[in-house]
Amino acid sequence: MILVLLMAGAMWGIGAAMGTPRQARWTMIGLLLVAVLAVQVVLPAGHPLREATGRSPALWLLILAGAGVVWLYGQGLSWVRAEARARDPVTPDTGMTDGLAPAGSTFGAVELQRYARHMVLREIGGPGQARLKRARVLVVGAGGLGAPALLYLGAAGVGTIGVIDDDVVEGSNLQRQVIHADARIGMPKVFSAQAAVSGLNPFVTVRPYNRRLTEEIADELISDYELVLDGSDSPETRYLVNRVAAARGVPVVGAALTQWEGQISVWDPARGAPCYECVFPVAADPALAPPCAEAGVLGPLPGVLGAMMAVEAVKVLTGAGEALRGRMLLYDALYAETRSIALAPRAGCPVCGGARAS
Ligand SMILES: [Zn+2]
Repeated sequence: MILVLLMAGAMWGIGAAMGTPRQARWTMIGLLLVAVLAVQVVLPAGHPLREATGRSPALWLLILAGAGVVWLYGQGLSWVRAEARARDPVTPDTGMTDGLAPAGSTFGAVELQRYARHMVLREIGGPGQARLKRARVLVVGAGGLGAPALLYLGAAGVGTIGVIDDDVVEGSNLQRQVIHADARIGMPKVFSAQAAVSGLNPFVTVRPYNRRLTEEIADELISDYELVLDGSDSPETRYLVNRVAAARGVPVVGAALTQWEGQISVWDPARGAPCYECVFPVAADPALAPPCAEAGVLGPLPGVLGAMMAVEAVKVLTGAGEALRGRMLLYDALYAETRSIALAPRAGCPVCGGARAS
């Protein structure tokens, strides 16, 4: 009896050492059992070999039956798992229109675990998470607003994230631009951002554009994405993004801030909401809206607004809740007050024609 168990153990061990597949090793042990049973049945009682292998076939038949039950249970379990996989809602539709999205939008076990807190949200769930994975989002500016927006888009599993900026990381940025690091001072911001996002989530693709968003490239670049997050600090860039995105029917999550106050909205004339130029037909006087370098800005403020941009992005992409279309949220950090104001398309807007429909 013990002799047979020792032989089985030795076979398993040698098989493991030689790298034989598990299945082959089980087969070998199965053959050993059958051989032992044969010895029990064929050889006469009292034969030394029969004595050494346990005298009676009953015990071996019992072991064989037990193994059979375990095997059947395992088969049943894999069948149930395969059925569950076939009905898994995270397997998305394959409606991709270009070859640039990450190959395959199904999730491995590690990713399922990573996004588990999204999966249990009724408004996102498996389909929403798959949608995020297929999504292509462009972030304009890797500064104060771009920093948290990029980090949260990456963490949330937005599959393809473009980021355009022509600045390099400076020491004075680090009071608020938390995506960068002291060790990366002097590095182009887009590469610093790429390093941070990839380090946070290796399952997303970051596409850095180390240049200024100009008239020449805006159309080609923006038409490659389905959603733009505008965290730029220059009025020219903001109007350019608005114009090109409106022409392409691409929604823009736009935010801006000064000192202690921030504002955010979703500009989406293709879906009846106003565009940026509807609400701000002329650029603010630079004397009234000085850049952060002159006026100063509270460090966590772009953190709040940039995180809100990521929130709106997830909502726009998954269709969860009500995005900030036709509304602007104002946040006054100094007095801890928020306000939401309704916005309407402006008749005669040169960009969207008053959102056409209205
Ligand atoms: Zn407009």
